[in-house]
Amino acid sequence: MVETVAPQTLGSWLKEADRCISTWESRWGVFETHPSLRVDHQVLSEAYEIYVNRLAENYPFFHPRYAGQMLKPPHPVAILGYVTAMRINPNNHALDGGPPTAAMEKEVVDKLAKMFNFPEHSLGHLTTSGTIANLEALFVSRQENPDKIIAVGSAAHYTHARMANVLGVSVEHIQSDPDGRIDLNCLEEQLRLKDIGTVVLTGGNTGLGAVDPIQEAVQLCSQYGVRIHVDAAYGGFFRLLAGTDSLSDRVSNELEAIEEADSVVIDPHKHGLQPYGCGCILFRDPKVGRHYVHESPYTYFTSDELHLGEISLECSRAGAAAGALWLTLELLPLASNRGLGPIMAMCLDAAQRWHAALEDTPLRSWGKPDLDIVGYFPDIETGLASEIDQASQALFEASMASSTDPIFLSTLRVNSKDLHMRMPSITLDQQYVRILRSVLMKPEQASVAESIVDTLVGFVESDVR
Ligand SMILES: *Cc1c(COP(=O)(O)O)cnc(C)c1O
Repeated sequence: MVETVAPQTLGSWLKEADRCISTWESRWGVFETHPSLRVDHQVLSEAYEIYVNRLAENYPFFHPRYAGQMLKPPHPVAILGYVTAMRINPNNHALDGGPPTAAMEKEVVDKLAKMFNFPEHSLGHLTTSGTIANLEALFVSRQENPDKIIAVGSAAHYTHARMANVLGVSVEHIQSDPDGRIDLNCLEEQLRLKDIGTVVLTGGNTGLGAVDPIQEAVQLCSQYGVRIHVDAAYGGFFRLLAGTDSLSDRVSNELEAIEEADSVVIDPHKHGLQPYGCGCILFRDPKVGRHYVHESPYTYFTSDELHLGEISLECSRAGAAAGALWLTLELLPLASNRGLGPIMAMCLDAAQRWHAALEDTPLRSWGKPDLDIVGYFPDIETGLASEIDQASQALFEASMASSTDPIFLSTLRVNSKDLHMRMPSITLDQQYVRILRSVLMKPEQASVAESIVDTLVGFVESDVR
């Protein structure tokens, strides 16, 4: 039988890490830490207690009852990998900042490229976040197509427009359909009318996880000779499940079509079980590396090999982030039937169960989820849009405030017109409406989805109305 390690035993592994790193340190000879670096034990215990108490004011991100934002603690193996490397604190801006973690970065980036079926010699690196990774993609797009417009779906992440603004590039927002997917007719019209250089597609948007029609958009963009960037910061790891029963055929095919894109972003700090500080950008064509060329007088002196700092807009980056991802993928590989795949499948299952459990209740699903985010709203058939808005907010507050059964949700602002498509009888007395949103990114949520929905229904039937 395989002996498994439960998260609770992390403490003993951290002690082991401490021992290993101390042994490594003593190889170089013991020395006295300078007195200026010593701290007062009493002050430390007092400050630490305050620190821990303040941190305890967080929402319980780890718990299945927390179904609000895209938040969960990293896997214990990632914590172990991170803390161990952090004791050394390598900097992956250049090979000599940390040769081992720089090598690990290349290995994990290759694994991610392989997951998307990108060519063997594609180029990529880790970044501090999805936003920076998207900035890199848009930077390369601008260098490849100077003076051309970047087209972005209206339901795409808000940082694309912000980063295009940083780069001084114009943005064209392309209308989305009522499910939040880019509208291909509108896209084609803009491709015909405007000088578009790059189209940004989303492989699972942050709002409700909608996956754009990537396959057809790829065809369209190749007809017009336009670059494609896919933002799969949140949804990228679901690519592992393409071709399995966990995903619909449509979503499978869209995620497989990412392999045709010029660049893709994925966030290991979302579904890759990593602590914050780990995004990734991949470019199909390694020749785009030329846009990064810069001369630095003092950094890259140990090798003629490619330095990660030469293909990154950022300078300092945590070697510990690469190390943590490397160690995690040794234990939980990028595979459909073991490691990360089954974890992702359970998250999808949780969302499907949540969606199904809403049927015949006073809550109505926004629609069958593409990935693991569910939208829903109080079903007030003949009411006003503002009533749905207020009832959503009331349920959001009541469920969190419950002393016995708290459930943590989030709200999402949607266009009233998209609500009207679902409830034609509703009167649109305001432009936007809040609905409820649950991100089910913890595999434990699959077995409690129905009971959580029951609890929410209880709140609707008692407190909220
Ligand atoms: C999270 C997310 C981003 C932003 O990434 P950060 O890592 O939060 O900077 C961009 N796009 C999508 C689709 C995301 O889910």
